[in-house]
Order: sequence, then structure tokens, then C-alpha cells
Amino acid sequence: MLVFVLNAGSSSLKYQLINAETSELKASGIVERIGIDGVLKHVVGENRKLTIEASIQSHKEAIELILETLTQGETKIIDSITEIQAVGHRVAHGGEFFKESTIVTDKVIKKIEELIPLAPLHNPANILGMKICRELMPNVPNVAVFDTAFHQTMPEVHFLFPVPHEDYTEHHLRKYGFHGTSHFYVSQEAIKLLDNKKESRIIVCHLGNGSSVCAVKDGKSLNTTMGLTPLGGLMMGTRSGDIDAGVIPYLMDRKGMDTHQIIDYLNKKSGILGVSGISSDLREIISAANDGDQRAQVTIDMMCNRVKKYICSYAGLLGGVDAICFTAGIGENSDLIRNKICHNLEFMGIELDNQKNQLKSNISREINRDTSKTKIFVIPTNEELVIAQDTYKLVK
Ligand code: AMP
Repeated sequence: MLVFVLNAGSSSLKYQLINAETSELKASGIVERIGIDGVLKHVVGENRKLTIEASIQSHKEAIELILETLTQGETKIIDSITEIQAVGHRVAHGGEFFKESTIVTDKVIKKIEELIPLAPLHNPANILGMKICRELMPNVPNVAVFDTAFHQTMPEVHFLFPVPHEDYTEHHLRKYGFHGTSHFYVSQEAIKLLDNKKESRIIVCHLGNGSSVCAVKDGKSLNTTMGLTPLGGLMMGTRSGDIDAGVIPYLMDRKGMDTHQIIDYLNKKSGILGVSGISSDLREIISAANDGDQRAQVTIDMMCNRVKKYICSYAGLLGGVDAICFTAGIGENSDLIRNKICHNLEFMGIELDNQKNQLKSNISREINRDTSKTKIFVIPTNEELVIAQDTYKLVK
């Protein structure tokens, strides 16, 4: 079954065309700067690449252009859009209502609309993507796959915030967690690498521009670092992660910031970018640290310490760890960061093999010493494949 996987953002659209039965990636691409000047980058296989710079004023124009690119010209991969048998949508927030993926109906769209206050930046774009696909491909079923769904197994003791309880019951204030499809995929791959161990205790470190750690017990999310919104937990590219909540009124008072400004400050100006003053891209920070920049070094150490803090905390919750997994841009590619995070954890039975850690590869691999009680894996994530497979299961 050919599944078109769509990740619709406010000014960008990422897509993949996947054969869900064979897991074969047929084509992928991204449209950026929708409503500004518009760029479509389309890739078929290893080598066939196409970039179109055009005025793309709306999400509808962008999806029409993607469908055209899939069916016409040099990078054509299918004869007609009728070959697309289903569309899988990444949806940011499913609240407590969506505990698993679901076929998109009018009722489902309405429910996702009701959840907009929980994800004001993301859910509207996701809904738009669904509406456009239903309009352009009226006979094709659509499936919504939620970033929050995997974490719905978290028990109350981990998802409640220590605030008056009525704000949970009346205002849905709680931890939801994100990156669910990635944590699910990576933990499932880890379980396979552990020879399908029945009772498993896994910690997944998804370290990219957005980052989160998840404690996975017997294949289910037990706790995770992101909270009500993706601002919680680790220090990220531009997001602060957890800070003393008292910082917020203090800054608003001292700098005369309003709600919008403080949200912008914590989401877009903080984290790696804010501390380093250089960039949100960790490669640039590592390079600056290598050139002797002290603040870049502190940035790296702060980031790694926070990951280490959660590994230790979750190891305690899980009562030990069978495997620690590193994934996403930083987790998959930076041996330096993996090394710093695992440093000094030998007392917990976590022993990194420096040589294995330095080997470059884009396949799943083990990087612990043979004597290590805990396995350490690098597992490339594949959120789109999970979306395609969930879509296939529901549509089949
Ligand atoms: P993602 O959001 O998963 O695409 O990850 C993006 C992040 O991964 C950026 O901060 C990149 O700088 C970082 N990244 C990618 N490759 C490397 C690398 N080789 N070393 C360090 N960071 C990397």
C-alpha cells in the first residue's frame, strides 16, 4: 500500500511516499517558506533530486505542487495520484482523548480542533493538511498519528504537575509528552536488539533540535521529559527546557515582557542558542568549543548534564536499565555528546566502548563494552515509517 505521509507545520510541509508493506521509501521532500517565497526540495531514491523555487502562497498550493512533482517530470515516481492509497498525518497533540492513531473523520477533525489550546502552533496546521488532502484526494482515507499518543500509558503519578488538582480536571493541565512516534519506534527496535526480552527497561534519548528522554517499561511509556508543551525537559536548540517557574514573573517584571514575549524568549531564544550566543546548531557549538570558546564548552556541558540527570532519574524509576538508546540528529551523529553523557555512569553498569562509539554508520548498532551491564544503542529514528505503518494497519 502506497502511503503519503504528511507533516504539516505553520509555514512548512514535510512529506514522504512510502510502501507501507515493504517499508520502501519511494520519495521524500519538504516545502518551506509557504506564504513567503516558497521552496520545494524533492528527493527520489539516492540521487534524483529536484529543487523548485516558486511563489507558494498557501498550504493547498504546496500540496498541489507536491502531488504534481510526484506524478510529473524527471522526478516522477507514480503515474497518477490515484496510486496513493492512504494519507498518514503527523498530529502534534491528541490530548487525553487520542490514545492511538485513528482514521480521520469530521468528528475526529472537530476533536483535534478542540485541542488547539494545547498546541496552538501545530494542531491548526495539521488540521489544514487533513482538510486539503481530503479535498484533493476525496476517495483516499486519511489517518491521524499523534505525537502524544505513545505517552498516554504514563501513570498519574508521573503525568500530574504539583499544582491544585482542579487545574487538571478543569483545564487539562498535565504532562502529555511528545516525540511519541520516535520513542515508540526506537524502543521497539531496542527490544528486538535485546532478543525480544519480555520485561524490558529502556531509556530513549531523542536528541535533535527538539529533544526528549523517555523511560519505556515493557514497551510502554512510563515517563518522559516534555510536558504540557514541547518546552519542558531537556535544554534544546532554542528551547530552555525545565527552569524554575519563578524565572518567568521575574523576567516579565524586570524586562517588561508580556506573555507573547516570554514564550518567544523561552521557545526561540534560549537553549543552545541562548547560552552559547552562537547558534542553535550543535555542530557550530562543537566547532567553537574546539577553537577554545569557553561559553560553547559550557553550553555543551549543560546540555549533556541535563540528559545525564534524566538517565539517572529514569534508571531509578525503572529499577535498572537494559538499554540506553541514542537517536535523532545529535544522538545518531555525535560521538562526543554520547561520550559526555555516558561519562561517569560506569558505577551504574553503563560502560561505553570508545572505539565502537566513534564508528560512523547510519544503521542501528551497539556501542557498549562487552562488560557493560546496560546495552548502549544508536538507533536511527524513523517517525514517518511508524506513521505509514499505523496508516496501513487502520486502512487495510
Ligand atoms: P534533528 O532535529 O533530529 O534533525 O537534529 C538536528 C540537530 O542535530 C542539530 O543541532 C545539528 O547540529 C545536530 N547534528 C547533526 N549532525 C551532527 C553531528 N555530526 N554532530 C553534532 N550534532 C549534529
